[in-house]
Amino acid sequence: MALTLTQEHIDRIQAHAEQAYPHEGCGLLVGRFDAETNEKILVNLVLLDNAWDTAGHGGPAGMTSQRRYWIAPQDLFETQRQARADGLVIIGVYHSHPNAEAVPSSCDRDLAWPTYAYIIVSVRHGLAADLQNWQLDGNHHFQPEPMKIAPASAAKDRMPLLSS
Ligand SMILES: [Zn+2]
Repeated sequence: MALTLTQEHIDRIQAHAEQAYPHEGCGLLVGRFDAETNEKILVNLVLLDNAWDTAGHGGPAGMTSQRRYWIAPQDLFETQRQARADGLVIIGVYHSHPNAEAVPSSCDRDLAWPTYAYIIVSVRHGLAADLQNWQLDGNHHFQPEPMKIAPASAAKDRMPLLSS
């Protein structure tokens, strides 16, 4: 598939990743799957707090939010509820890699869901340096997924609630 998003979406993801530095920042991608064009269309970004430090999640010793992200179940639930009310679904996740490549880690792969888009931002010395988008293939391995930049107005026009 391909992920269609706007430059504004990219700017906001990068700004959030820079704010979260030196920790990992994360959030959810809300939009819709277009079966006709085989595209994921990003409509809303949901910026979240990285819950790794506060969720009491039983991660391996020494793992911190500098190396992991964890989306709190209540954030996921609330995002799903709001998306449904808007006629949309969750289509993916973004998170940052402080001082590391914008390439999925083995942890990312273990936690990944099929069909979702996984945007990863590499943040070096507090500045977003690279942004890549990934999707699992049939063997549960990440492959690059192309991104298509749409004009800001086009994404809104294609929202199901706004089309006639
Ligand atoms: Zn990661």
